[in-house]
Amino acid sequence: MRQGLLVAPHSFAVRETDRPIPGPDEVVVAVDTAGICGSDLHIYHGENPVIRPPVVMGHEFSGSIAAAGPGVDAQPGQRVIIYPLVACGKCVYCQAGQPNRCPDMRFVGAIGYDGAFAEYVLAPSAGVMALPDALSFGDGAMIEPVAFATHAAGKIPDVARAGVLVLGAGTIGNLVAQVAKAYGARHVGITDVLDGKLRTARAVGIEATCNSAKEDVEAWVKEQFGPAGPEVTFDCVALATTVKQAVRLTRRGGNVFLVGVPTGELPVPLVELLIGETSLSGVYCYVPGDFHEAIRLVLAGKVHTRPLVSATFGLDEIGEAFAYAVDRKNEAIKVAIRP
Ligand SMILES: [Zn+2]
Ligand SMILES: [Zn+2]
Repeated sequence: MRQGLLVAPHSFAVRETDRPIPGPDEVVVAVDTAGICGSDLHIYHGENPVIRPPVVMGHEFSGSIAAAGPGVDAQPGQRVIIYPLVACGKCVYCQAGQPNRCPDMRFVGAIGYDGAFAEYVLAPSAGVMALPDALSFGDGAMIEPVAFATHAAGKIPDVARAGVLVLGAGTIGNLVAQVAKAYGARHVGITDVLDGKLRTARAVGIEATCNSAKEDVEAWVKEQFGPAGPEVTFDCVALATTVKQAVRLTRRGGNVFLVGVPTGELPVPLVELLIGETSLSGVYCYVPGDFHEAIRLVLAGKVHTRPLVSATFGLDEIGEAFAYAVDRKNEAIKVAIRP
């Protein structure tokens, strides 16, 4: 089978390798569609402190069961998506139903398992989830980012009363805004520095948008949420500028959630955090229930993912796909690979 291996930063090799054979509690999935994640781009640039090439990435994917290991209840041909987080099952976090906090976690396409930028991928059978008939394989590959957004938006306290500001209109920011809206937030607004991303946000029903490179964000936020600002802000960018904006623009007593992955340590305006009694917390991945909730939201038409998929490439074009995702940031929200 063919597999797209990142051999060094910015350099892929599509190599021929043996098709994996599933052991007990494992399946092999014939990959249909796999999305490129923002975290894959960090690895591509060599900016991830832990995950370095050589690596086969790809953790947002759909496909069909090609083979099931001994005793695994999965039918060949069954359409599936995979919950890619593989937790230890034994630590205090796993015991408490928080596998996303497991310190020993492995991850399909990142840690311990080759990913889905390949014709076939080996995965633990515990992560198999059926892809409903009403969803295409393309829809299926978007469930992972929707689950991330569902996990994030699920943290909004008293959502019906909450004004929700989202910084960053890439895939995750867009989806967090959509899920917050689906959960009945009183108002949702989104910012980005690229007009193309804001256009996509409006196309999926997030009408209040602001280009923070061109407009006065502070004035816009006051106009949208009232002079005190939003109750909740999600920073889906995680740059020094957005962390500062998030703390300063959020209502006193409100919540700032860090969703984007910072590439290093960032300054946080602690005096404002202190005076405002503002809470700052991280959001990381998802639990399996977030996948079920994501499927429910997409099936119900409450979250739209198709307008987010900007381009699709074959596996042989994986280098071009990543270059496109990096160079065409304005248009490229989600880039998919179909092995
Ligand atoms: Zn992802
Ligand atoms: Zn654990």
